[in-house]
Amino acid sequence: MKSRSILSCQKVTVSFDGFRAVQEMSMELAPGELRFLIGPNGAGKTTMLDAICGKVKPVGGSVEFNGRRGKVDVTRRKEHEIAQLGIGRKFQTPSIFSGLTVEENLEIAMSQNRSVWAALRASMKPRDRERIDAELALIGLSHKRQLRAGLLSHGEKQWLEIGMMLLQEPEILLLDEPVAGMTDKETEKTGELLQEIVRKRTVVVVEHDMEFVRNFASKVTVMHEGKLLKEGTMDEVQRDDRVAEVYLGR
Ligand code: ADP
Repeated sequence: MKSRSILSCQKVTVSFDGFRAVQEMSMELAPGELRFLIGPNGAGKTTMLDAICGKVKPVGGSVEFNGRRGKVDVTRRKEHEIAQLGIGRKFQTPSIFSGLTVEENLEIAMSQNRSVWAALRASMKPRDRERIDAELALIGLSHKRQLRAGLLSHGEKQWLEIGMMLLQEPEILLLDEPVAGMTDKETEKTGELLQEIVRKRTVVVVEHDMEFVRNFASKVTVMHEGKLLKEGTMDEVQRDDRVAEVYLGR
């Protein structure tokens, strides 16, 4: 029997003034899966993530989220509603508060609302504190908790933002090129972090760095000109002639 999908995208089409950036794109995610979405520049990968998280509205097709609260058709839901339902999106540029410490950034993320932060700080329960400590350990920033976030390295800023997202308990995390601009060491640590995250959550990663993708025994979805070109293991994808032609330039 086919296992349950946590996310089911069926024939999703996104149009910008008549230009179809995503065309009848279908994709199913199993719970706990780490899925890579790859393809040449302009293939429609970012737009596909935008369609899932509600940043753009598809003109055709559907996106169904089957999380803890049951099946929800999120195709035409608002972005903040989709986030609240449990689909978190991280963009390429981190949106952290540079003037605040690492720990304060996590406190804000936990409150999900800047205006209640002060109140929350006063009433932070021991359990909340433990959650923040656990998240700091996961993202490898326990020793930098009192440092101003603006002083972190590029990689550390990305991890902080991932930690902030995790505190909002998403069931699905959508990451757009998380290792772009990272050093080799940071890239390696990000790989380890992703392996930890998928123990409890489902993750979709848009990625350019093929060396990075090869480190995982994950399913890969290849897009080209807005469409699904191929889906399979990295080996299967690389053996495909069409993929070699459009993506690997052979
Ligand atoms: P990828 O992430 O695979 O590089 P994108 O999803 O960013 O591709 O873009 C797919 C296509 O859609 C590109 O041709 C891009 O120029 C176009 N596009 C993306 N966003 C917009 C937009 N807001 N308005 C018009 N065209 C867009």
